[in-house]
This record gives sequence, C-alpha cells and structure tokens, in this order.
Amino acid sequence: MTKRFSVQQVVDALRVVLPAKAEQVPLHEPVFAGNEWLYVKECLDTGWVSSVGRYVDRFEQMLREYTGVKHAVAVVNGTAALHICLKLVDVQPGDEVLVPALTFVATANAVHYCGAVPHFVDSSLETLGLDPGKLEAYLREIVDVRPDGCWNKETGRRIKAVVPMHTFGHPVDLDALVDVCQRYRLELVEDAAESLGSYYKGRHTGNWGRVSALSFNGNKIVTTGGGGAILTNDESLGKLAKHLTTTAKVPHAWAFWHDQVGYNYRLPNINAALGCAQLENLPTFVERKRSLLHAYQAAFAGVEGVQIFREPSFAKSNYWLHTLLLDEEYADFRDELLEAANSAGIQARPAWTLMHRLPMYAQCPRMDLSVAEQLERRIVNIPSSANLEANHGEA
Ligand SMILES: *Cc1c(COP(=O)(O)O)cnc(C)c1O
Repeated sequence: MTKRFSVQQVVDALRVVLPAKAEQVPLHEPVFAGNEWLYVKECLDTGWVSSVGRYVDRFEQMLREYTGVKHAVAVVNGTAALHICLKLVDVQPGDEVLVPALTFVATANAVHYCGAVPHFVDSSLETLGLDPGKLEAYLREIVDVRPDGCWNKETGRRIKAVVPMHTFGHPVDLDALVDVCQRYRLELVEDAAESLGSYYKGRHTGNWGRVSALSFNGNKIVTTGGGGAILTNDESLGKLAKHLTTTAKVPHAWAFWHDQVGYNYRLPNINAALGCAQLENLPTFVERKRSLLHAYQAAFAGVEGVQIFREPSFAKSNYWLHTLLLDEEYADFRDELLEAANSAGIQARPAWTLMHRLPMYAQCPRMDLSVAEQLERRIVNIPSSANLEANHGEA
C-alpha cells in the first residue's frame, strides 16, 4: 500500500500530541513556575528595580556557571548584545560581516548598526545553520587573505567577521567553522540567541566565538521579559563589554567621566530577578522539550511527507522550537498546512523570510543560497512550550 501525503494527516498527528484546548495552542509561551514572583517582589519591596542591584550580578554569575563561559554581561536585549559583540571584535564602517540568510533579522541589523554590510551565506541541511564547507569553497573563490585581513576581491571591502546562528537551538558545526575563521582571518561571533541549553561536542554553545550573544526575549527558552547577554572567555573583552554597555562611565563616587561613546544597554535589576528564577528551571525546560520531541516523533512516525527535525550528531540541542520539515516534493503544501494548523487552534509558523529578500538588504553581497531557499519552503515550526503536557504518542 502506498501512503500519500495529506495536510489533514499532519494536523491530526499534531492533535495527537497537543492538548485539546479552547484557545489556540501557542508556538511558544514562557513558564513561570518557580521563584519568579518571589524575586521580582523583592525588587519592588527593596526599591532596587533599575540598573544596579544584586540580581544583575547573580544573573551574570548563573550564566557563567551554566554555560562555562568565563565572562557574562547582561544587557537590555539580544540585538543590543549582538551590536556590542560586533564592536568588541572591531567591526568598522565599510567592513563586511558574513551572516546566514536564514536567520532572524536582528543578526543582519546588528551588522548594519555598525555601518558594516551583511554578506549572506548558505545553510546546511544537517544543522539548519551556516554551512562551513560551502562557505570555505566560496571564500576560496572570492577573497584575498592578506596580513591585514580578508579582502573581498569583488567588492573591495574587508570581510571582518562571521556570525553563525544556532537555528532553533541546533548548533552549527563549530570546529569546522573555527578552522575556516583561522584560515581566512575572520573573527567568530556566535549568535547564540536561540541556543541557551545547547551543547556542541559536550561544551555549551557560546564558547567558540571570541564573543557570543544570548537573548532572553519573551519567546526564548528563558525570558527576562526583554534581555540579552554578551559572553566571552577573554577577560579584557568582558571588561570592555561591561564598560561599553554602561555608557562608558569610569566608576567614581560622584564624577561623571565617560572615556568614549558608550551605550545605555544595561539590564535592569527587576528583569535580572526574573532571569535568575528562570535559569533555576532551565534544565527542566530542556528536559521537557526533549520529551515533547519524542512525542512528536512517535506521532509522526507513520506520516508520509514530513519529518520532525533532529539535532545533528555532534550536538545536544535545547530544542527551543520544534520543526516540521516537509519533503521537498510536498513543499508547495506549506501554506495550506499553516492555514489548516492555525485554524485547528494550533499555532504554526514558517521560517523567517530570508534576509536577501528584505528591501533594506536586497542589494547586499551573497553566495549561492539554494539550501536556505529550500529550507525556507520546507520549514514549519510547531508548538514547543516547556509546559505542554505531551500526550506520548499512543496513536
Ligand atoms: C531573538 C533573536 C535575536 C534578538 O534578540 P532580542 O532579544 O529579541 O533582541 C537575535 N538573533 C536571533 C537568531 C534571535 O532568535
């Protein structure tokens, strides 16, 4: 008997896993089941709500302990973290920075904020993130490596850095990418906004970049309402990150002395309080997402034409957002599937529009993006919250 693809069958499989609720099952919602109320209340009771306070220090310490990165600086959001990361590796106006075409717009925007030009690179089917092998082959064609850096022969601009993004929590092949960076004199900045709780070869993501960025936006695995962090194993960069994000004010009991143009990017204490409580539960969130993965896998085992995306073999992913991958031959059904799922009360969403299709980035340099374009047609994200009581696939 040949099985055939049907949108209805896909929606039915989602229904097997997800609770039957009156309201829509959201794609991702935060879970406040620990000390959130207590810690935030303490901020209000003591008056320490703003940019100084013990929760900021504690939050940064918890991030260091959890990720194993030596220095962590909490900031207002992930985009601000990326902006400062690029400044820290000395991205200058007129430089190019390699970023995946398949990413959230913040990755490219941060490059633009530095007066630099995003240069779009293709993705890998194995990780959904930047493909180091394909990047290497491309650089071999288009750049000159000189003592003063990596120069794009086609545009005449210096390529300063590369910003891989760990898509939906799945780490890119970092060892291969570090190797490319060394050979081509590129700075490595990890956009780890989606990968808190994800490991590459046993070590937490964010440890490979000279600097890395995290996000604690409301839809991320851990939230502070809005927030982000800069991670680095380089002590002087860690100090500079703190300095740049606190208006470059030289500490003094009363004098206002700022030694360069800085940014007011500090995370308020009240947000950090929320973050401390959330981080206490991060291991539980990761476990629950993994058990949701197993439920989805069981429910989709016999469904024709779609796969539940699995982490690459070298990684242990946080499975921040679960992903249905339509087989290529059924990619034309994506919008019909999105319609059917959303009207059945199951929030589902396509991948981001690729960066080179957005009006402000349409003229930017780019390599062949055929894999990213294929993934854009095939990806559908499905409900992934850590509070979903998965029905374990008795279908
Ligand atoms: C969420 C996210 C960001 C930005 O984080 P904000 O805190 O929303 O500014 C950056 N990059 C990626 C890939 C993200 O998913």
